[in-house]
Order: sequence, then structure tokens, then C-alpha cells
Amino acid sequence: QYDVLIVGAGHGGAQAAVALRQNKFEGTIAIVGDEPELPYERPPLSKEYFSGEKSFDRILIRPATFWAERNVDMLLGKRVESVDPAGHAVTLTDGSTIGYGKLIWATGGAPRKLTCSGHHLSGVHGVRTREDADRMLGEMERTTNVVVIGGGYIGLEAAAVLSKFGKKVTVLEALDRVLARVAGEALSRFYEAEHRAHGVDVQLGAKVDCIVGDDQDRVTGVQMHDGTVIPADMVIVGIGIVPAVEPLIAAGAAGGNGVDVDEYCRTSLPDIYAIGDCAMHANPFADGARIRLESVQNANDQATTAAKHILGGTDAYHAVPWFWSNQYDLRLQTMGLSMGYDETIVRGDPANRSFSVVYLKNGRVLALDCVNAVKDYVQGKALVTGGVSPDKASLADPEIPLKSL
Ligand code: FAD
Repeated sequence: QYDVLIVGAGHGGAQAAVALRQNKFEGTIAIVGDEPELPYERPPLSKEYFSGEKSFDRILIRPATFWAERNVDMLLGKRVESVDPAGHAVTLTDGSTIGYGKLIWATGGAPRKLTCSGHHLSGVHGVRTREDADRMLGEMERTTNVVVIGGGYIGLEAAAVLSKFGKKVTVLEALDRVLARVAGEALSRFYEAEHRAHGVDVQLGAKVDCIVGDDQDRVTGVQMHDGTVIPADMVIVGIGIVPAVEPLIAAGAAGGNGVDVDEYCRTSLPDIYAIGDCAMHANPFADGARIRLESVQNANDQATTAAKHILGGTDAYHAVPWFWSNQYDLRLQTMGLSMGYDETIVRGDPANRSFSVVYLKNGRVLALDCVNAVKDYVQGKALVTGGVSPDKASLADPEIPLKSL
């Protein structure tokens, strides 16, 4: 029995425990996580950890001593299978049960799998856990050709690292531009050109038929709709996640694509909160649209919101979304959410590899994508939070600092 039981030892789960202790919570806390490791940062799995620039120790969210000193019990390598909201208890896959006063559900999601034939072949990978990254790294030596399915951030980051390793990389994107789900056309075209300049074969409007393999069930290629087969010793599938909410939904929580939460991250079940990638919430920076936000910012800030609410606070979730992506020597930083924009303004010349894309709706700044433009990123925050409607010619002029607008 724990006063607060956290399910999921990732970004949100770790931060929930940190925030509870920071805010002087004195009750008992445990984190149940199905991965064997202490909470670690996930973004480096397609960046500095994958490229070998950072060891695993350096991506731990906190060292082991931190959790021990703060009396946070780490129940690792254990998976919650079901939740009994009336009995205030969860059951693990080993059959044991753990009681709770409050439950914080912070389970993220699992990589969405292909459904076509060959999706199970060895050499086909999703990227979500350290185990996934290590498995890919273990196959690196025998790998020459890599096909990345999905031109989102994770796929493109992996492609950048792999091309640096000297692999022949093909990116297959079903839509007519990369990053279509998250960014405007200017940014998509810029990254498409960068990847091509680094030798990556970016194929748009790509229709994958199936994955083909040898008689050892090892991948050998990706077959396209027109019959061509792109040779591959490794396939990386980056087509989004499926939120890990099945036990909560089975217990009666409202939701579907994620679990529904209110502005304090409460689910519809008593004493159960949900945070991070799996939490479907009305985001104040998306005009109140209900979304799941897959970012470290959202996981951390929702964790803090839930922790404070458990301690009797009444601050609703209201944090400016931000995000980043590293590809080659390009650091993209995003402030705000661009969804629903009706106009974009490019600030600076993409050819200089330092510029920003400003997203507007009815003249109001919704978001900025800043590529090697940290000043715009820092100064753009006030434009997003203030919902400012600046003069467009000034916005487009990189010589005019955003803070003056
Ligand atoms: P997670 O960190 O995924 O933690 C959930 C944990 O719960 C996992 O360990 C999972 O195995 C465990 N779990 C699931 N079900 C159960 C269960 N039933 N019982 C026990 N444990 C369970 N975000 C950014 O902002 N910037 C980036 O640059 C960026 N890059 C990324 C790169 C990669 C390769 C990936 C995978 C993600 C990236 N993200 C990035 C997204 C970011 O990592 C996530 O938004 C963040 O991890 C969400 O935190 P979370 O706590 O909701 O879930």
C-alpha cells in the first residue's frame, strides 16, 4: 500500500515523484515501471545516445541515490495489468497487487506497428526504449542499408545519425512532405533538402506494400506498391505511438486514444490521475482542442500539475508547449503549437541554415519553429503566451528582434 503509486517510470512518472517531494509530500511513494532501468531521458535514444555521444549513465533523469534519499520506491521490471478503482489497487502481471491512495498513470505509449506482412521480421525496429536503441546498435556492424518508414522527428533524427555512421539510408514518407503532421511546408522542405544533401534518399508519397525477409526471418527489403524492393538490412518504423491506457480504459476510465483528463490531470476514475503522452487533455495553447501532446515539456508540467493537486493545490495545467529536435548540426526549437494556423512567415533565409517559421492564426502568433535561431526561440515565447499580433513585415525581418514586437 502506497499513498501515491505511480505507474510508468519515464519522464512523467519520475517528475511526479520529484514534484511531490519538492512540494513537501511526506507520504509513501512508489513507481512501478516495466522497463528494467531507472527513469532515463528518451529523446537521446534517437540522438546523442544512438550516436554514441552520451553513455546511458548520462541520460538517467536522476542517479539511483536521489530516489533512495527521497524514499521513492522503484519497482522496476514490473508491469501493471489491471486497475481496481473501487478497491484502490492495481494488479501486476506476476499476480501481486499493490494498494494506493492516489494513482498517477504515466505510461506513455508503444510504437505503432506496421500491419503489413513482414512487420514481425527481425531487423524491423520501433524506437521507444533503451532496449530498442541497443538492439539497433547491436546490429549496426552488419548493416549497410537502412529504410526508415515515417518522416516524423524520430525517423528523421535516426536517419541523420545513421547517415553519419555511413549507412545508406532511405526515408519513406506516405504524405507529400516530411514532418507534415507537426510543421508547416517551409520547415518540411528545408529538412527534406538537408537530408538529401546528406545523401539520404527521401521518398515522398511512398506506398509500402510489405516487408520482405530471408528464410531466417531476417529483413532483406521493403516492397513498394509498384513492386520495387528497396534493399534493407534494417528497417526503422517511426509512425507514431499507441498510448498505453488499456488497463485504465478496461477499468472504466473515459478515453480511447489516450485517457481523458481534466485541467488537473484527473481521469474520470476517483483518485486516478494521468499525465504525459497518454493523457488526452484540453490544451490552452491549442484553442482548447483536446489533444495528446508527446513531449518532455508536457510530461513534466502535467506531472507537476497532478502532484500539486494531490497536495491540495488548485493550479490548472497551463504551460507553454515547447519541443526540440537535433538533426546533423541543426538544432530545431519549437515554441507553442502550430495546429490550426492559417498563415506562416519565414524569418531569415533557410539557405543560411538559421531561420524561423512563425505560425499565425487571424494574425495572432501561435507558434515558432526556430532552426539554429535560439534568440527567436527565447524571445518568441512572449509572442506566443501573449497571443500578440505583430506587424508582419517586422516579423519577417530577422534584423528586428522579436522582443521589440
Ligand atoms: P514515457 O517516458 O514513455 O514513460 C512511460 C513508461 O511507462 C515507459 O517506461 C513504459 O515502458 C512504462 N509503462 C507502460 N505501460 C506500463 C504498465 N502497464 N506498467 C508499468 N509500466 C508501464 N520529446 C521532446 O520533447 N523532445 C524530443 O526531442 C523528443 N525526442 C524523442 C525521441 C524518441 C526516440 C522518443 C521515443 C521520444 C521523444 N520525445 C521527445 C518524446 C518524449 O520522450 C515523450 O513525450 C516522453 O517520454 C513522455 O513521457 P511519459 O512519462 O508520458 O512516457
